[in-house]
Amino acid sequence: MKIFEEIESEVQSYARSFPRIFNKAQGEYLYDLEGNQYLDFLAGAGTLNYGHNNPILKKSLLDYIEADGITHGLDLHTKAKGEFLTTFNEKILKPRKMDYMVQFTGPTGANAVEAAMKLARTIKKRPNIINFTNGYHGVTLGALAATGNVHHRAAAGTPLTGISTLPYDGYLGDGIDTTAYLDKVLTDSSSGIDHPAAIIVETVQGEGGITAASISWLQNIQKVCRKHDLLLIIDDIQAGCGRTGSFFSFEKMDIEPDMITLSKSLSGYGLPFAVVLIKPEHDIWKPGEHNGTFRGNNLAFVTAKKTIDHYWSDELFSNEVRKKGAYIYNRIQKIITRYGEGNFSSRGRGMFQGLNCVDGELANKITKLAFKKGLMIETSGADDHVIKFLCPLTISDQNLKNGIDILEDAIKTICIEKNIFDEEVDYFHEDYEVKS
Ligand code: PMP
Repeated sequence: MKIFEEIESEVQSYARSFPRIFNKAQGEYLYDLEGNQYLDFLAGAGTLNYGHNNPILKKSLLDYIEADGITHGLDLHTKAKGEFLTTFNEKILKPRKMDYMVQFTGPTGANAVEAAMKLARTIKKRPNIINFTNGYHGVTLGALAATGNVHHRAAAGTPLTGISTLPYDGYLGDGIDTTAYLDKVLTDSSSGIDHPAAIIVETVQGEGGITAASISWLQNIQKVCRKHDLLLIIDDIQAGCGRTGSFFSFEKMDIEPDMITLSKSLSGYGLPFAVVLIKPEHDIWKPGEHNGTFRGNNLAFVTAKKTIDHYWSDELFSNEVRKKGAYIYNRIQKIITRYGEGNFSSRGRGMFQGLNCVDGELANKITKLAFKKGLMIETSGADDHVIKFLCPLTISDQNLKNGIDILEDAIKTICIEKNIFDEEVDYFHEDYEVKS
């Protein structure tokens, strides 16, 4: 089909990594027009945590559409919205003793980030916000200012302001607690950092290279916020909705953000949907201040409610994610042992794991070859050097193993080609089972 070259903008990105025309998808599989099957370890960049066309969610959606349920409702009160809010409150917020107001923003992650940053600035009456090296919060101007990646920043066409970037956990090497520096510059009135309204942070940096901050570092960030009168915004757009093994990525860490952004897998079905959770005392919006036509994607409310009912009513799903996360971690450790710690290292939490190939070209070669062998997997990080395991959380144990086997095969071929690995060494797939 020539139409993509003819009239689709040059801005395309994922389509370049996976140059096929896709036509169907089910669970952890995608199919192209020729009927070739691919295992999906990309999962809509973390939007398909429950797989493609999840049958349980699809049924609720089809029933709703069949009954002429409302699709678009601006921000009108609808039955679907009411039921989503009730379920979210009863099954997600209350059991976790979380007291938050829910703001429906425009349906992208970036729009939720914009809303959170605007609100924080308004509350504290200070324009500056602190973000972290390698952070990613979206590409609209406000969110882009808080995004590190030079490729994205360069496209702004205007100065990106109102943000001071400080070192994320591990940025200055092991054993250096970068929150000490943060505390210092906020204490020193001549540090050159304008007193900020808030700190925005990912608990695991997704686009930045699957770097997981330690629990103690996150707790220290919270302490710094309290000490210096800053709001804490956790951007859980990629790390949340179960990816790290719990609904929110910061659960059981004794962290109480002032605001939380959620999007990506919130609808469960890949439908556009984003929210900001706001501590009640901070919900000082005036009516319509953060408006938007698509704040009422009722189809997303229906599938989001069903997702929570089905997957988040008890601990079973969480346990499964943790078990699969441990499996991925162990397989990555085997790869590192086999191919050398200098060449590879691991990072991440739960089913949000990365294989750091140090070299972007190497990572790229591996993922390209993996695609030829039927596995869709992407890279992230400053130099695209981290292979990002983002398969649906619902993937079967067998397909999780199959996908990693394909990746290992690709790593082996490329490492032999690049003389990183000796062909003589006996090679076999670990006959692992996913077990607790
Ligand atoms: N925040 C985080 C942590 C993200 O990972 C992303 C998307 N990768 C965004 C914000 C922006 O979301 P969107 O692409 O839907 O605007």
